[in-house]
Amino acid sequence: MSKIYVSTPYLPPLDELVPYMQDIWDSRMLTNNGKFHRQLERELAGFLGVSCVSLFANGTLALIAALKCLAIKGEVITTPFSFAATANAIVQAGLKPVFADVDSYYGNLDPKKIEKAITPDTAAIMPVHVYGHPCDVEGIDAIAKKYSLKVIYDAAHAFGARYKGRSLLSFGDISAVSFHATKSFNTFEGGALICRSPEIKRRIDSYKAFGIQDDGDIYQAGTNAKLNEFQAALGLLQLKHFDRILNERRALTMLYHQHLDGIEGISCISQKEEEAYNYAYFPIFVDEKVFGTGRKGLAALLFAQDIVAREYFYPLISDFDFYKKLYPHNENGFPAARSLSEKVLCLPLYPGLAKSDVQRICAIISEAKR
Ligand SMILES: *Cc1c(COP(=O)(O)O)cnc(C)c1O
Repeated sequence: MSKIYVSTPYLPPLDELVPYMQDIWDSRMLTNNGKFHRQLERELAGFLGVSCVSLFANGTLALIAALKCLAIKGEVITTPFSFAATANAIVQAGLKPVFADVDSYYGNLDPKKIEKAITPDTAAIMPVHVYGHPCDVEGIDAIAKKYSLKVIYDAAHAFGARYKGRSLLSFGDISAVSFHATKSFNTFEGGALICRSPEIKRRIDSYKAFGIQDDGDIYQAGTNAKLNEFQAALGLLQLKHFDRILNERRALTMLYHQHLDGIEGISCISQKEEEAYNYAYFPIFVDEKVFGTGRKGLAALLFAQDIVAREYFYPLISDFDFYKKLYPHNENGFPAARSLSEKVLCLPLYPGLAKSDVQRICAIISEAKR
């Protein structure tokens, strides 16, 4: 039996890709805002129901560009319970990340903790919709208004997620998504910024192409973070299959809930009533005191059966050497984030995962209860 990983990228049938490649080969248009690039920006805007989409080479460069294009200066409040790219992007943009704690259920930045972390140097908030579940967008919006802060969502997990009937990507000043191979919508590598005005989009589009503006002049030193035509074609193809993939992810998620909900010492995340979830991840939180077997032990039991579950996110970003040296006072901080991080195990979830495998995984987990 072959190994089951936490995620396996969806790939559209190869024969569907061939006509796109033929087009690229014929036109010799490989990059620089080509036909597929423009088409993907349009189709994504339509699919998501947002006004402005700017494609990027990856999600990290998109996050950096968002900070640069909103001319953020000073401190940016963010979460330690995320992938390192979130805080790294803030540092890469020449800014100072300030970590605040999360809520103890979804693992998203807690507005009350954000407010406590505000200083005269705070310029922006960078929350993460962890696992694709919506942050308290209203709470964060209220704080942003009260203190005149910009909000840039790291929405790397949130593609296709909706909240109160709106794309989750439409909240805040800018949202950044990732199209990395491990994400629920992929272009091998890639990403996008979703913003609210054509004027900001023009600034973003110029920034990702060296800072060159429509008149050919350069007013801001930009970078090169363009998505190429091959990747844009992958995105167009992937989009055709997204709804079917989402249904498959939903069915597998329901099966996990059916078998795992109610096991003492294992908690799963339920959706908010107002959210239409994208079923991007299936994290469980193992309370060793109640369950008997710890998170590490459970991961080892699964691994022995060729099932690779991941401690995602562990450790906290603030516990990585670079950030610990920067902020030694954070040691032992963020009790809610720390507790989630020490309990979490993301179980395999991807289109093509067999229902029988989900059942097998759940059986291993329920047998591990002591
Ligand atoms: C994947 C991810 C990123 C980075 O996206 P890339 O496209 O890989 O650069 C940023 N933040 C979070 C939370 C992620 O999971």
